[in-house]
Amino acid sequence: MTVVEPSPSPIVLDSIAEVREASRRARAAGQTIGLVPTMGALHEGHARLIDACRARCDHVVVSIYVNPTQFGPGEDLDRYPRTLEADLAICRERGVDVVFAPKDREMYPQGTIATKIEVGAAGTILEGAIRPGHFQGVATVVLKLFGIVVPDRAYFGRKDFQQQLIIRKMVDDLNVPVLIEVVPTVRERDGLALSSRNRFLDPEDREAATVLFWALERAKSVVKRGERNAERVAEVLAETIEAESRATLDYAVVVDAETLETKPTIVDPARSAALVAARFGAVRLIDNTLLA
Ligand code: AMP
Repeated sequence: MTVVEPSPSPIVLDSIAEVREASRRARAAGQTIGLVPTMGALHEGHARLIDACRARCDHVVVSIYVNPTQFGPGEDLDRYPRTLEADLAICRERGVDVVFAPKDREMYPQGTIATKIEVGAAGTILEGAIRPGHFQGVATVVLKLFGIVVPDRAYFGRKDFQQQLIIRKMVDDLNVPVLIEVVPTVRERDGLALSSRNRFLDPEDREAATVLFWALERAKSVVKRGERNAERVAEVLAETIEAESRATLDYAVVVDAETLETKPTIVDPARSAALVAARFGAVRLIDNTLLA
């Protein structure tokens, strides 16, 4: 008979001082520390980040914090799903050591902070154009989390393409001693990228939303067949998404995967990314792929 040991529950902490102390102890014991920043409502995509972190780091910290400073007025801050009990179950299954789930008053005791990370041009296009200030909020809270957890490595999903690029740039520009690991996008069987917002899609929109994946696949295949005109590939993306009557296209672009710059010609498909965003009813979804 195999006896399955129940995994120990993660320690759930809401104070910065306690998280620091847990990291200090781990470090003193010679352990490496890994951080997976999340906003909760965890799904298999987050779980894959946790697995990657667990495989490489001794002390695994997951932060669950719906950071208000990355939401604009009228965005879904109040409606963002909060599912702490289910999140903790996933963290337990995946062997997380510490869950840091702070309240706003712990992260922003004065309600706001004066110092903010300026992320440059990459933060003002695409998602940044539609959500002004979003990436400043993200970069600032991520740097705060790095200062609290003091991780050796931190794990981000390629699903949020612009976000991982901006975080890698911040770490590089400011010589932050944290290694950024980027994990491929986890998808449903029909191709839809997992997202905490998918639960808000009504059944017809849920089905229609797979068009994002198919548009990206079509773009990849035209590039594979030799198309190197970036604008033509962007047209293929847009045409595919616009053919779905339930989708309202926000953008469909082909960019340099390291700089987000638009270039007329795709020189290296592996260094080019297709990024799309569209709305299905009230739900806004993003997706992307590298073109090789
Ligand atoms: P969020 O909780 O949405 O802020 O996401 C937390 C982290 O999980 C981010 O680094 C996301 O890029 C990553 N993530 C979200 N969805 C997925 C997915 N479907 N596949 C891989 N990573 C994901």
